[in-house]
Parts: sequence; C-alpha cells; structure tokens
Amino acid sequence: MTQRKARGIGLLSGGLDSLLAVKVLQEQDLELLGITFTTPFFGRNMASRTGRLLGIPVLSVDLSEKHLEMLRKPVYGYGSRMNPCIDCHALMLREAGRVMERENADFLFTGEVLGQRPMSQRRDSLRSVEKLSGYPGRVLRPLSARLLPPTIVEMEGLVDREKLLDIHGRSRKRQEALAAHYGITEYPQPGGGCLLTKDGFVRKLKELLARYPEATPREVELLKWGRHFALPGGGMCLVGRNRSDNEKLEFLAGKHLMILRAADFPSPTGVMLGTVESEEDLALAARIVASYSDAPRFGTVRVAWKKGEESGFLAEQLDEKEDYRGLLI
Ligand code: SF4
Repeated sequence: MTQRKARGIGLLSGGLDSLLAVKVLQEQDLELLGITFTTPFFGRNMASRTGRLLGIPVLSVDLSEKHLEMLRKPVYGYGSRMNPCIDCHALMLREAGRVMERENADFLFTGEVLGQRPMSQRRDSLRSVEKLSGYPGRVLRPLSARLLPPTIVEMEGLVDREKLLDIHGRSRKRQEALAAHYGITEYPQPGGGCLLTKDGFVRKLKELLARYPEATPREVELLKWGRHFALPGGGMCLVGRNRSDNEKLEFLAGKHLMILRAADFPSPTGVMLGTVESEEDLALAARIVASYSDAPRFGTVRVAWKKGEESGFLAEQLDEKEDYRGLLI
C-alpha cells in the first residue's frame, strides 16, 4: 500500500529561515503550500517573490484587523520595542491552521530556530505559541525539529524526522551554509522588516493609539507618510513632505478623514487624525499646513478642508513652520 503524501502549510516571513524550512521539507515527498501575512507592519509584496524562489504556491492573507486588535493587548506582552512576537506567531499559526483545515492538510511549519531569538524562540515560547494557536502537536519546525518533541506527522510517519535538522542558538553559520547549499543568495535579515521593532515608527504608533484607541489599519498605514504633529486637544495632524506623501495621505484619508490644504498657493496635504476634532486642534492644524505652503509670510491665509461630501474654508494667521517644531512626534 502506498502511503499518501502529507500536506504542509508553511508560514513564510520572507527571511532566510522560513525559506530554508521549505527547502529542507522539499527533500521529502511532501505537498507544500506557503502563506505570507500582510499587516501595516510587515509582509507587503512578499508572496509572489517567495513563491517564485521556492517553486511552491504561496497564499497571501491580510491580517491587518486581527493583528491590530491583538497588538493592543498581547497575552505574552511585548519584546524590546512594541513587538508582541509570541502572540504574533500564535495569531499567524491560528490563521494558517484554518487554512490547514480548509485544505485538508496535515501540519503547519515555520522557520523558527530553537534559542535563536530571546523572546519568541525559547523552548517554552515555542510551546506557548503552539498552545495559543490552538494547534498543539501540529506545528513542525524543520530547522530544529530533532531537538523538539516529535509532532503528530512525525509520529505518524508522514514526515521523516531523520531528514529534519537540529539547529540551535543564535549563530547563523549553519543557515548560511544551507543557503549556499540550496543556492539562495538574496534574503532579508531576520525581523528586519517589522515596523514594530523600529523606534521611530513605534513612537508614532504609541501616540496614535493613546490619542485614538479605536484607530484602524487605515490610520496606522497613514503613519508611514509625512510629518506628524501631536495637537493639544487630543488630535494628530499629518503633513506631506513631498508629492508622493501628499498623494498617499490623500488616498488613504479618502472620504473618512479630514483633508486640509492652503487654498490659493502650492501646499502640502494635511490630514487630521484622532477622536477629538476640537475647533482649536482644527485651527492649529490649518495653521501648520499653511506654514508649510508657499503662501507669503504675512497676513492671513485661506485653508480649504474637506471630509467626504463636506467642505469649507478656514482663515488662519500664517506663522513660520519653526513655530510648530515642538509638536513634531
Ligand atoms: S518581529 Fe514583528 S512580525 Fe516578527 S513575530 Fe515579532 S511582531 Fe511578528
């Protein structure tokens, strides 16, 4: 009797380890499907590149809403910045698990390496991730599998444990040797792409969530563009630095957020963010936007605003942009 091929669903971060996990499993007769997740913090444009590189189908899943919800209160807290790595891995495995069930697959796999990262790849963290994901015993880590308890597919003989690896610790030597062996030459640094590990972005994100707790992925995405000003009434004002910022800000604000622009002179685009749109904040935002416009530096300036179908003008005193430096986040 021929044994059926086991089917595995792999979480692909785009980093070397997840690529190697696929390569190691491709040494066996298995059916593999990759998943990449996108959120405002990581994962854009990865699916097609990794799919091409590995020669397997890759599914791209938008996890933005669920990830942002988890980020507000992660069960296992944050790493050194605002990175909730254990909860993040668990969430991705949970979502991949749904795909596993839907596709009638047998196991999940990741490129995690035991002991490689202080928070998320300790032995107990790997267990916590599995437990939190709801798929204990179903998560295979091909790069460290021989140092971990056998998973169900190994015990059932669907995956040959002997062909899996025993990589451990922070050294990258074995991964580099494997990359050379498999001819993988270009790959991003591990964790390098996640904005939740970047100080500048995290500062803005904390400010946004404190001022606007119900912020959606749209507002988070906006944080990537323009200058950001914290307004005293609880709002935030974003001001484009160049044409591409202006276009992005306007596109993302759409009909949902207030857009400001000096009416009669070349002007950057401003967007108001926040729960409280106080009159004072709005007037201040209009002055900030005008101060970055080409309006002559005296007298008052007309600032046009629009939100959805509504629009109007404000007349504001023109100040120097240096006056607002203290509000920059
Ligand atoms: S570094 Fe970012 S993407 Fe990676 S597990 Fe942590 S939170 Fe998730």
